[in-house]
Amino acid sequence: MHEIVIISGKGGAGKTSIAGAFAQLAENAILCDLDVDAPDLHLLLAPKNLLQTEFRSGNEAIIDLNRCDRCGLCASVCKFDAIELTQRGFQVAPIRCEGCKVCVELCPADAIDFPERHCGSWYISTTRFGTMVHAQLFPGQENSGRLVTLLKQKAREIAEHDGYELMLCDGAPGIGCPVISSMAGTDLAVVVTEPTPSGRHDLERVAKLCDQFKTKVVVIINKCDLNSDQAAQIEEFCKANGYPVICHFPHDHAVTKAMVKGQVITEYDSGPASQLLEAAWKNMLNILHAN
Ligand code: SF4
Ligand code: SF4
Repeated sequence: MHEIVIISGKGGAGKTSIAGAFAQLAENAILCDLDVDAPDLHLLLAPKNLLQTEFRSGNEAIIDLNRCDRCGLCASVCKFDAIELTQRGFQVAPIRCEGCKVCVELCPADAIDFPERHCGSWYISTTRFGTMVHAQLFPGQENSGRLVTLLKQKAREIAEHDGYELMLCDGAPGIGCPVISSMAGTDLAVVVTEPTPSGRHDLERVAKLCDQFKTKVVVIINKCDLNSDQAAQIEEFCKANGYPVICHFPHDHAVTKAMVKGQVITEYDSGPASQLLEAAWKNMLNILHAN
């Protein structure tokens, strides 16, 4: 099985619209939304959840007020100011608790529990384009890299069991922990960029990351008609570094119209935008299978 991840150096580059179109064009592929902090592929694919599982990672301190004798030691030792005195007694603000366990160890009344932290949920769902594995972290939760690794592992297990030939992932934006986690085992990265200085800069950073993982890179220049000078500079950068540009995708109102209808562009109509993405998909497959 081959693994493809669609990424961009930053959010808002049009990555998910392209991931949605590729999901429709793919045959025998398992879909995976690895943007666990702010997933939005589900808005286009309307998944029906078959399985929901809690994601737990790290630990958090919780004070049992029945055991607490209000000595205040925990609040004074917490370096993260996570413990405050409320009308009900000493309580931990979960958003500030870093799970260092110092208060748990020092509490003279043994009144602080330290359970695993419930950070969000992950799902196995059906969509009109096939099975999808996806997740949602609660706001402010960390460990998104761990969740990305878990999603990929589950998607691989399903792919192996059900005989999928391709895993198509919508990656997280940026080059942080979730993107790094999404690169492990990936054969090819589709980098979606825009012709702006920040778009070019982000492309350079994310392509470098792919090189470190020895992952093939292809590039889609989205809204390529926004700035022809910048588009030319991106083209030049890609040529110099051996990253094939598989699609120059101009701004097209049909993409927005498709979104409003809850569809991906390639199922909305067969106009120029769809034709470009179909050609890009074929081009990408050829590069994926080339030695
Ligand atoms: S250290 Fe323990 S007993 Fe003292 S206030 Fe904190 S939770 Fe209560
Ligand atoms: S576990 Fe650490 S961060 Fe959390 S409340 Fe206790 S001392 Fe503060």
